[in-house]
Amino acid sequence: MLEGGLVVVGQHVAAVGQLAELQQAYPDTPLVHKGKALTPPVVNAHTHLDLSTVPYFRGSYSSFIRHVIDHASERNVKAAERGLRELQALGVGGFGDIVYKPEVLTWLLEHSPLPGVLYLEVINRNPSQADSVAKKVAQQLSDWRQQNSQVGVGISPHTPYNVSAALLKKLVEIARLEGFPLQMHVAESPEETELMTQGSGALQEVPLQYGFPAYQDWPGLTPVRYLAELGVLGPHLTIVHGVQVDEEEVQMLAQSGTRLVSCPRSNAGLKCGRMPWELYLKHRLEPALGTDSRSSSPDLDVRKEALFLWEQVDPRVLVRAATRNGYRVLGLEAPRITRGTPISQVQSW
Ligand SMILES: [Zn+2]
Repeated sequence: MLEGGLVVVGQHVAAVGQLAELQQAYPDTPLVHKGKALTPPVVNAHTHLDLSTVPYFRGSYSSFIRHVIDHASERNVKAAERGLRELQALGVGGFGDIVYKPEVLTWLLEHSPLPGVLYLEVINRNPSQADSVAKKVAQQLSDWRQQNSQVGVGISPHTPYNVSAALLKKLVEIARLEGFPLQMHVAESPEETELMTQGSGALQEVPLQYGFPAYQDWPGLTPVRYLAELGVLGPHLTIVHGVQVDEEEVQMLAQSGTRLVSCPRSNAGLKCGRMPWELYLKHRLEPALGTDSRSSSPDLDVRKEALFLWEQVDPRVLVRAATRNGYRVLGLEAPRITRGTPISQVQSW
């Protein structure tokens, strides 16, 4: 691969190009090596800032869910503030955040200096409550949208199994009609596939342990096929993870225009497997990158997600995932480094 470079004069970029050509054009300029890549500010397209004080966990996905439920009371403004400060210190250009409590979302809307999307997490498996829950969510989102905030709002139906089919369809309808983006955890763990296809496995035991109703009426379909059958795939939806998929499902996602965010370190730590990058790239679905929360990732730096895969995936794809694709899934304009770009807007990896 050819090496690239930037010429910097004062505090601004004066030229961008291949290193050899730049050295010819600027023969007297001293050369400073800056690492693996120089990019615009990276984007963390999937995190949960309100989990920033929950201890880092490694283990099976179902035991991670127990860990999160056990620490539910910590999902507050203080935790979200800590996560937001970490993103600011990393100099991210945008973020996609799943928010559990409405009051935390209100706080982030008022205080985030960073652009992006705050997705309200929705969990409800009782189909008879679908109407009332959907109405409440629609009202909350339209109220939040009135606020003059740096950051937008969207909806996050938690997973295909923690939201009833009736509610999921209504949330998608609201999102389409009102233009709210959707982000949902899909095809993350083998346990999710087992629950969706057979109604069994370690995830089935989690609600029972906490006195919640057992999972019933599983669709007998894999997560992506289930969403395809419900008609919820499409460009308004970003799925997070997409690890447990076969090629036909990758094709369904790609052809429907569904977007994708990958969190490779979290997937490895929670024994979820490795997202099949080759299949997604073959069908021209390029993912964005997210860290997931501090409870399943050691930090909120998406560059480290990319470096984690540096030897396995084309580094140019990884750089696009952490920059351009991240801006796109959040509906933000992707900056480019050109002549005149302030050097403060260039990140080295
Ligand atoms: Zn997540």
